[in-house]
Amino acid sequence: MDEKNLTTEQVLSRLPGPLLAWYRASARDLPWRHTADPYRIWVSEIMLQQTRVAAVLGYYARFLEAFPTVEDLAAAPEDRLMKLWEGLGYYSRARNLQKSARIVAERGAFPDTYQGLLALPGVGEYTAGAIASAAFGLREAAVDGNVLRCAARLTDCRDDVAAPGTKRAVRERLRAVMPEAEADVRIFNQAVMELGATVCVPNGPPKCEACPAGDFCLGRLRGTAESLPVKTAKKARRTEEKTVFLLLRKGAVALRRRPDSGLLAGLWEFPNVEGTLDEAAAAETVRAWGLEPRAWRKKLTAKHIFTHVEWHMTGYALEAAGEGPGEFTWADGAGLTSRAVPSAFARYYQEARRLLEEER
Ligand code: SF4
Repeated sequence: MDEKNLTTEQVLSRLPGPLLAWYRASARDLPWRHTADPYRIWVSEIMLQQTRVAAVLGYYARFLEAFPTVEDLAAAPEDRLMKLWEGLGYYSRARNLQKSARIVAERGAFPDTYQGLLALPGVGEYTAGAIASAAFGLREAAVDGNVLRCAARLTDCRDDVAAPGTKRAVRERLRAVMPEAEADVRIFNQAVMELGATVCVPNGPPKCEACPAGDFCLGRLRGTAESLPVKTAKKARRTEEKTVFLLLRKGAVALRRRPDSGLLAGLWEFPNVEGTLDEAAAAETVRAWGLEPRAWRKKLTAKHIFTHVEWHMTGYALEAAGEGPGEFTWADGAGLTSRAVPSAFARYYQEARRLLEEER
């Protein structure tokens, strides 16, 4: 049979055998792969959403040390939770984890069905499929960008992977070829993910010579793999300009809490305003807060990229006198370190720590 003429179903039905053998022989050794505990698997899946494995490893270990059970997480003070999440980004994940933990703790067990998992806050189709299979051995596929890319290349499919219908179709097709044995089901989704992360990679050419599916992959056989997947262009990111203030007073720096909803909800930030202000306009803003600017210490620019928006920041570090508005909290070095300040403000955070250290 000419392998180039295999149908989509034929290609996918050949996948599990070589894929699982390859995975068992050469997958990366990651801590969440040593457990069937739904809590541990769930925490790893939520952390891995939008975040690289290398970045997650340290957070995962610290998080489970702080909250070894779902009950511990349910009862955790929010500030402690946010502090442990600091730097990982997409903070709504941490809030949803805790909401879900409270639901699970209340009902006394994790939901053990795909639909039950899907009902938990922060658990979408991908995560529900990943937990259902790895923790409960259910034949549910987990499809994210990595898996869509592998599937498009394997089957030489030119459907737009950004279209919801494509994802649904891939999920159904993979579910249809999932193995029967429970031990295989538990690792099947992870094996496809591993293939996408380490062999059928997103940036640069796929490493077909090392791929367990190389013999029957239509993208490879037909020479189309590198042009796949087809994806409609994303909307350009919006740019927002901001002026950030490191207001120093008696060995402390001003912080305030962000609003309870929206981007970086409820986290701590340095006071800031929209737009790029020059020093004169920045001084006016400081006075409008009821503070008197004294010594200007430094000007610092920084940029932070979120999924849909980019912040271009100009920052002023200065000494100020007065009380400032009630929403300001004046934090000394320890107070700053104990609060969760998102990494969008990393440059200012480092500078604030340095300046507070200098004043001691
Ligand atoms: Fe991807 Fe190449 Fe493997 Fe096909 S053979 S799945 S293109 S790495």
